[in-house]
Amino acid sequence: MKVGFIGLGNMGAPMAANLAKAGHRVMGFDLAAPCPEGVAQAKSIAEAARGAEVVITMLPNGAILRLVADEALRAMTPGAVLCDCSTVDVESARQVAAEAATAGMGALDAPVSGGVGGATAGTLTFMVGGSDAAFATVKPLFDVMGQKAVHCGASGAGQAAKICNNMILGVTMIATCEAFALADKLGLDRAKMFDVVSTSSGYSWTMNAYCPAPGVGPKSPADNGYKPGFAAELMLKDLRLSQQAAEGADADTPMGALAAALYARFVEEEDGKGMDFSAMLPRFEKRGRG
Ligand code: NAD
Repeated sequence: MKVGFIGLGNMGAPMAANLAKAGHRVMGFDLAAPCPEGVAQAKSIAEAARGAEVVITMLPNGAILRLVADEALRAMTPGAVLCDCSTVDVESARQVAAEAATAGMGALDAPVSGGVGGATAGTLTFMVGGSDAAFATVKPLFDVMGQKAVHCGASGAGQAAKICNNMILGVTMIATCEAFALADKLGLDRAKMFDVVSTSSGYSWTMNAYCPAPGVGPKSPADNGYKPGFAAELMLKDLRLSQQAAEGADADTPMGALAAALYARFVEEEDGKGMDFSAMLPRFEKRGRG
């Protein structure tokens, strides 16, 4: 398949490289990052988009996506599909899809879970919103870049699934970290805490698979000085998207709101910038109730 790939950062570069390795003809464009091996270098968004059956974007946020999509759609061949894999607000995803439809193009919002490791290994999970026809067109590419693609519904449904999942993740990480800090102060050994909780009703992905306590449970960023992993700033971005969506949809999400406020303080006022999102544990360790 002829593929245009715009946004070749930490995630986009390995995703594009995997498509090229699988035999697809990929032409890439990024404002700053170089093209990975096997990907032809375009000089502009339009050049990457022209003649492609599918144009994939992997960009920092919704505002940038809207600008890039506008330019790409003007160059794309009618009937081609614009597939955005970035994590952006639901509104931007729907707006881009509407613009694509007006231009005679298909569109998907297809954010991912799995991080840079999953992008490199080709084991991402895609959460996809858009038409059946557009999903069918891009499915062979999802199969190369990931291990699972769930068609969640109409435009925006992929972003909705992503931010709901990550709101649970942020809230659960905080709960796991504050419980470890409380256990410390109660004199409970961390390994015993893990042993009990990981097989009791407090178990979760953050405890069992990504334990925030160093030396406890499977290897995680906690065992690597809390180097990301999944950066606290990215968790904050996703929590803010969840709150933006909750406000627009009149949904009551008090735990999500608290998690967003706590990650904002951690990243902007404390020492969370550049740390993995599980570094909430040393944050709680240092603090008492005041
Ligand atoms: P990144 O900052 O490494 O990459 C984004 C790239 O977009 C950069 O190389 C930048 O130069 C490029 N870019 C910005 N504006 C552009 C423009 N106008 N035209 C062309 N290129 C432009 O970010 P990333 O870590 O690759 O993340 C990309 C997206 O994936 C984000 O939406 C993020 O939330 C999401 N995501 C990231 C992870 C992760 O672990 N890194 C996991 C899941 C989802």
